[in-house]
Amino acid sequence: MNRTRFAPSPTGPLHLGHAFAALTAAKLADPGEFLLRIEDIDQSRCRPEYEALIVEDLHWLGLDWPQPVMRQSERLSAYQAALDRLAALGLIYPCRCRRADIRAALSAPQEGAEPVIGPDGPVYPGTCRHRNMAEMGPDDAIRLNAARAFDYLDLEEIAFLDENIAPGLPHRLAAQDFISGVGDVVLARRGMGTSYHLAVVVDDAAQGITLVTRGKDLLDSTWIHVLLQKLLELPTPRYHHHRLIRDEHGKRLAKRDDARALKLYRDDGVSAAEIRQLLGF
Ligand code: GLU
Repeated sequence: MNRTRFAPSPTGPLHLGHAFAALTAAKLADPGEFLLRIEDIDQSRCRPEYEALIVEDLHWLGLDWPQPVMRQSERLSAYQAALDRLAALGLIYPCRCRRADIRAALSAPQEGAEPVIGPDGPVYPGTCRHRNMAEMGPDDAIRLNAARAFDYLDLEEIAFLDENIAPGLPHRLAAQDFISGVGDVVLARRGMGTSYHLAVVVDDAAQGITLVTRGKDLLDSTWIHVLLQKLLELPTPRYHHHRLIRDEHGKRLAKRDDARALKLYRDDGVSAAEIRQLLGF
């Protein structure tokens, strides 16, 4: 029995890639439970009309889920509790660097080598690492001190299982490779109270998700999630990172690919059965 979830952000219409992700989650929950979760922490980009359209599109595809639906914008106190816990352990710090500051720090001559690119972009050079939470300013983000986190856990590596990519073989990452290749990730964005990484970990645990299904583009982010699960003493679910739906040029479909919005297919008279067949369901 699996419990899975489809967790879209209502920042645009669902397209074929989302349909593939939702159908994968629902299929792998059978027998079991499939949940919908609305990931709307970025209130500047989320719109209620997109949320309504998500529900409409998913029902049209033949999917259903239990109520009430979890909405991340209503979960800020749970994210704050997780941050408080990490703060009490001395594992997070406030960061005032903007993107341009990070770029400048990384291109300073004494840094030498090319910046390493992690799941969230260039690995943070550590400019604010000496700061502590008591110095937190209203415009600061919050970062995880990755080296300290591994020290605290006394772990030399982290691991997770993916049922789709090399099933049965754990994916492993050495602490040192996390520190140099992923680094001090942002756990709370400026003015947002959380980040995707923190919210997804707290909510997957709160909802008892046993199998996390999502696109392969998020494979590298899973290291961050596994580390956070350990720090917050939450279970690590199993994973299924699935293929990405691409356009005819081989490019991954993105939000701006509205030409492939499910709504447009619907309005053109394409049936849900045809969409399912097109996607291999
Ligand atoms: N809201 C995220 C997205 O749309 C969900 C990713 C995940 O399933 O963890 O990409």
